[in-house]
Amino acid sequence: MSNPIPEMPLHSLTMEELEESLRSLGQPSYRAKQIMEWAYQREKRVESWEAMKNLPVTLRSSLADLHPIRLPEVVTVSGSKDTTQKLLLRLHDGELIETVLIPASPALYGEESDRRTLCVSSQVGCAYGCKFCASGLDGWKRHLSSDEIVSQVLLAEKISGERINNLVFMGMGEPMANYKNWLQAVSILNAPWGVGLGARKMTVSTSGLVPRIRDLADQPLQIRLAISLHGASDEVRSQIMPVNQKYPVGELMEACDYYGERKKQMITFEYILIEGVNDAPSEARLLAERARGLRAKINLIPYNTVEGLPWKRPSEAVQEEFLSILRDRGIAATIRREKGHDIDAACGQLRRRVSAELESPASLR
Ligand code: SAH
Ligand code: SF4
Repeated sequence: MSNPIPEMPLHSLTMEELEESLRSLGQPSYRAKQIMEWAYQREKRVESWEAMKNLPVTLRSSLADLHPIRLPEVVTVSGSKDTTQKLLLRLHDGELIETVLIPASPALYGEESDRRTLCVSSQVGCAYGCKFCASGLDGWKRHLSSDEIVSQVLLAEKISGERINNLVFMGMGEPMANYKNWLQAVSILNAPWGVGLGARKMTVSTSGLVPRIRDLADQPLQIRLAISLHGASDEVRSQIMPVNQKYPVGELMEACDYYGERKKQMITFEYILIEGVNDAPSEARLLAERARGLRAKINLIPYNTVEGLPWKRPSEAVQEEFLSILRDRGIAATIRREKGHDIDAACGQLRRRVSAELESPASLR
């Protein structure tokens, strides 16, 4: 790119940071409130400084230089309004990411639910190289900046015309490896002047970066924690998740215990069932023990096929047996029957590419 990348785009700023910036321009701090209203209030959400009509023109142009607005471009929208929708976004440097909107699902959440969940990406690619996951297949490219994380929510609400009331950081990348930008984005998404989404409505998933789990435990935000466990013993987990060599299961469990204690929360273990790898009854029994010690609940996820990877999901009978071993031991466990499989938008299927069937222009409603 010929232009240097601007440091502080508008959507990466907190109210205090914007006030500080305005002060340095000799402007009153109430301007910050006006600007955040233009940026985040649902009836406004403007996408240019020119549109902020109550700001002096000269101020608008200084701010446009200091804090550009750079929402990603929506390349494609796949799926339909009442099913899982996947947005392919092009970032300012041409990199591609995906964000997935999952509408309410009685099958998942019981009853009629108005839950609209967005699955948010945190990096371009992923460095952790879990053996079963599409996101890590092409390696790690870069972190997302905080405005790139925030923008996914703004664009998903714009495209769907609906308010998102649940966020899961389970898209491409490892949020905990991009901790600083990710946490800044969370505070903007959470702030009353920002997107205004309760921290309890956000879940961060991690492959188990122990020091960051502890850092987050010490933050006041009541964000929920999900661990990509996928193996209850070091033997099984290390085979499929290289991160386990650095932070083995025992250390991970201690960090989870710390998190649960600090937040007074139940945490979730995600456990993909992969045939012949981690689906043995002995692994289920060990998993139950781990979960009981922590009062964790377990989400079993039948493996979603990834092109180019050899793994398969076990038969339904094996899945059910695994589930009943957990339940017989009093563990809260469910099998997640996922949406979005057919459009490669399910867990672990997100990758940095434009699939052939998606190469039509976005339908912007
Ligand atoms: N890097 C973080 C956040 C991504 S979450 C993490 O790993 O937790 C994506 C979730 O999808 C993780 O739980 C991951 O383990 C799971 N996943 C990856 N590949 C999958 C696949 N092929 N089928 C089902 N789930 C998968
Ligand atoms: Fe990265 Fe998570 Fe995929 Fe592992 S499961 S490669 S940590 S995105």
